[in-house]
Amino acid sequence: MNAPQDIVQVAVPVPLYQSFDYLPPPGIPLASLRPGMRLRVPFGRGTQVGLILGTSSHSTLPRARLKRALALLDTEPLLPAGMLGLLQWAAAYYHHPLGEVLFTALPGPLRAGKPARQALTKRYRLTDAGRRVDPRELARAPRQAALLRRLLAFPEGAQAQDLDPLGGHWRRTAAALAAKGWLEAVAIPAPPPALAGSGPAEVSDYHPPALHGPQQEAVQTICTALGRFTAFLLEGVTGSGKTEVYLHAIETAVARDLQALVLVPEIGLTPQLVRRFQRHLRLPLAVFHSGLSAGERLAAWLAARDGRVPVIIGTRSAVFTPLRRPGLIIIDEEHDPSYKQQEGFRYHARDIAVMRARRSGIPVVLGSATPSLESLHNAAGGRYRHLHLTQRAGGAEPPRLKLLDVRHQPLDQGLSRPLLQAMQAHLDRDHQVLLFLNRRGYAPTLYCCACGWIATCSRCDAHLVVHRARQCLHCHHCDSRHPLPDRCPGCGAGELVALGQGTERVEEALARHFPGLEILRIDRDSTRRKGSLQALLARLEGGRRQILLGTQMIAKGHHLPRITLVGILDADQGLFGADFRATERLAQLILQVAGRAGRAARTGEVLIQTRFPEHPLFECLLRHDYAAFSRQLLEERRQCQLPPFAVMALLRAEAVNQEAPLAFLQEAARRAGEPPDVQVLGPAPSPMARLAGRHRAQLLFLARRRAPLHRLLDRLVPALGRSPAARRVRWSLDVDPQELF
Ligand code: ADP
Ligand code: ZN
Ligand code: ZN
Repeated sequence: MNAPQDIVQVAVPVPLYQSFDYLPPPGIPLASLRPGMRLRVPFGRGTQVGLILGTSSHSTLPRARLKRALALLDTEPLLPAGMLGLLQWAAAYYHHPLGEVLFTALPGPLRAGKPARQALTKRYRLTDAGRRVDPRELARAPRQAALLRRLLAFPEGAQAQDLDPLGGHWRRTAAALAAKGWLEAVAIPAPPPALAGSGPAEVSDYHPPALHGPQQEAVQTICTALGRFTAFLLEGVTGSGKTEVYLHAIETAVARDLQALVLVPEIGLTPQLVRRFQRHLRLPLAVFHSGLSAGERLAAWLAARDGRVPVIIGTRSAVFTPLRRPGLIIIDEEHDPSYKQQEGFRYHARDIAVMRARRSGIPVVLGSATPSLESLHNAAGGRYRHLHLTQRAGGAEPPRLKLLDVRHQPLDQGLSRPLLQAMQAHLDRDHQVLLFLNRRGYAPTLYCCACGWIATCSRCDAHLVVHRARQCLHCHHCDSRHPLPDRCPGCGAGELVALGQGTERVEEALARHFPGLEILRIDRDSTRRKGSLQALLARLEGGRRQILLGTQMIAKGHHLPRITLVGILDADQGLFGADFRATERLAQLILQVAGRAGRAARTGEVLIQTRFPEHPLFECLLRHDYAAFSRQLLEERRQCQLPPFAVMALLRAEAVNQEAPLAFLQEAARRAGEPPDVQVLGPAPSPMARLAGRHRAQLLFLARRRAPLHRLLDRLVPALGRSPAARRVRWSLDVDPQELF
């Protein structure tokens, strides 16, 4: 037994399932070390930034082996106690190393040990005297007049970038105004960033629509729950007014001096959505998007934590934004797969959000036109309150869905004659047409007619995709690229043909059928450059008689009222997918894309090309009956004992060496033994057994209830980390996996 001493327990961002004991930094009493503060500590041969979890008078380590922390980096805890607790829960639930979990929740500069202070920005603003000057009196100094006018539009002060459009000379002009005592330069914290291009104008003449009955009811029910935990599932077709419900509930929460956190899918976070929030709420927003600099991200994070910004909008990782006065959480399109993190700490933002709401005692609203089976199951079991919006708002009719049986149709690059005719009819009426094909590139396969050679990736079990514009063969899995061969590498002679269609090829065919018409293609390739997606959407917003062709990037988010026809080129891709969620995903995607048609006063039409028109999936979809469809699917899942009627965890392993992953997983299966109430399935090679030159395999755990599965993982996972076989593979555990590959 060691003598009692001052021990501080620290989490460090390393892949180890433990915390680390240190002595306090020199000259710092234990009492001033509080959970959630950062320490710089010696670690291995270098140093790390760690987060204090707690203090203690005992350590399991002998005194001689305890190291002293180097420095205390904070005077206040970085994270409120509630957040620290939530993250500890998440680390335990997902069986992920606590240090890594805690540090995912921090913005980059804080992870790196930078001070938790907002960077100051220099701003130029008019003095009281300057504001009284009438620019017209400065006719002889037009540059000064222009600067004065510009500054009048920025009562909080303008940054250099706001003034740059005036021309490079503005700094000299500013000095002249300052000399007259009309202008001053100040250093103030940057306001939380919203998306660029959403200026203060256009706000004043906005009048929100009056809520219809079911909307009012939903808002009221949600607002009655402010101050205690309730999970709501708000189900309503695209265009039924869910966003309007969010906005009103947020207004009420903010009026009670509470903060609202809004999560949207990765592709749902468009400037159009942010503008809508700004126009309606007229409140400062903190928007977390991928375009933020590290400094901007930190500023927004601090503003949320310190309660300086009432509304926070962001994608998946924004679920970890600390809030001073949490009031309401909203998750739009709750079924969207982008809420699940697919690498490292594999959390599900929706599930974290629900737990966060429960721990903070606040309501959470999950909204969707096509809720996930998990959420429907929770609603049916009474754990979520189910709210419905059944009609499209503003009197818009639901789009008419129709199947095009293409079994006996000649197709021109995937386009059937009836579809082309319907497109012509809608374009003749000056409307826009949207075509959906979830496959980018020119063609998915390059094939030799003489010897049967197919272009495959040397590092993955996958075909290489032909890309015309970039003149290459591209692996969409490992990103490797090869020049297009002009002769068959197999036989050296045969003619090579590109089989099948990607968006690039369909674009080419459309240009042939509709010469002179503007065709806008939206996929990962056409939107690679920063701002190009925005530019394409802006063209559509102002345009007419255009064809929009795209992958799932166009399925949601942007509101394009001139689209009256939606064509789904290949609905069969998802019908017989390997994953048990394939049908659910396909239905959600079809309804989502269909929802883009006829959102304003015009009724929309949706044509779905398929070779399996009698597939049961379509029957419910054509009737817009997602409820009936999901009931069927849930029944199937119940019979097969699959989620949400069972819980899963997937242990994955990969290595360059072919045997190592299976050997590791066999050891894992051996260690698991025959656990009570848990099935251990496998190990087996992954559906894509080789990716980026690595062999992959997996072991599946399946259980009726969560508790026995978690008891097993609690025992198994830390032990696996210490096993010698683990050193020969890269392995990870996925609790509640969304994809089984
Ligand atoms: P969702 O989020 O369910 O797709 P939105 O809230 O975006 O639906 O509403 C769809 C369209 O209908 C928007 O243009 C919105 O301004 C409009 N809208 C919403 N509620 C009403 C209402 N009560 N009356 C008239 N128009 C409405
Ligand atoms: Zn590859
Ligand atoms: Zn050949």
